[in-house]
Amino acid sequence: MRMILMGPPGAGKGTQAKFVADHFGIPAISTGDIFRFNVSEGTPLGVEAKKYMDAGEYVPDEVTNLMVRNRIDEDDAKPGFLLDGYPRTLAQVEELDGMVKFTGHELDAVVVLTADADELVARLLQRAQVEGRADDTEDVIRRRQEVYAEQTEPLIEVYRDRGLLVEIDGMGDVDDVTGRIFAALDAVRQS
Ligand code: AMP
Repeated sequence: MRMILMGPPGAGKGTQAKFVADHFGIPAISTGDIFRFNVSEGTPLGVEAKKYMDAGEYVPDEVTNLMVRNRIDEDDAKPGFLLDGYPRTLAQVEELDGMVKFTGHELDAVVVLTADADELVARLLQRAQVEGRADDTEDVIRRRQEVYAEQTEPLIEVYRDRGLLVEIDGMGDVDDVTGRIFAALDAVRQS
C-alpha cells in the first residue's frame, strides 16, 4: 500500500499515521518528524527548516522533496509507505507522482481527516502543554491553518478527481477515528 494521510494541523495525523502504518506493515513517514529530528540534531537541514517551522510556514519544496525522495528510497519503504504531512503543495504532488512512477507502482489511497477549526486550535494548544512544540503557540497555529487552507486544501480536489480520496471524520475518540480509517482502507485494499 502506498498511501497519504492529509488533514489540517491538529487533526490527529501523527497519531493515526502510526496506527495505520502498523496495521498495513509499512513505515509511517512524517516529514514534520524528520524535520524535528534534524532540528534537534542541529544538522544543516534542521537549521534551514527551523526558520520556516517556527514561523508556521512551509519548508521550501526543493528541500522537502529531496528529503522525501531519499527516505522512500530506503529498503523498508519498498513494500509501501504511509506519508504523513507530504505532499502539502501542488509542486510536491507532481514530485511524488514522479517518485512513485519511478518505482513502477501507483498511489492506492489518500486519506483526509476532517475536523472543526476551533476544536483544532484547542487541541493544538493542549498539545503545546504536553509536548512543548515551538510551533504550537496560538499565532503560529493560526498561520499554519492559513497556510494549510491556501496551499494544501487544493490538493484534496486533485486527489478526488483521481478517485483516490478517502474522507474520514477526524473528530471524537481516537480509537473510533482509527476504526473508521481501517474500515475505509480495508475496502480500498479489497477493491
Ligand atoms: P507537521 O508535524 O506535519 O505539522 O509539520 C511541522 C512543520 O514542518 C510544518 O509546519 C512545516 O513547517 C514543516 N513541514 C512538514 N511537512 C512539510 C511539507 N511537506 N512541506 C513543507 N513543509 C513541511
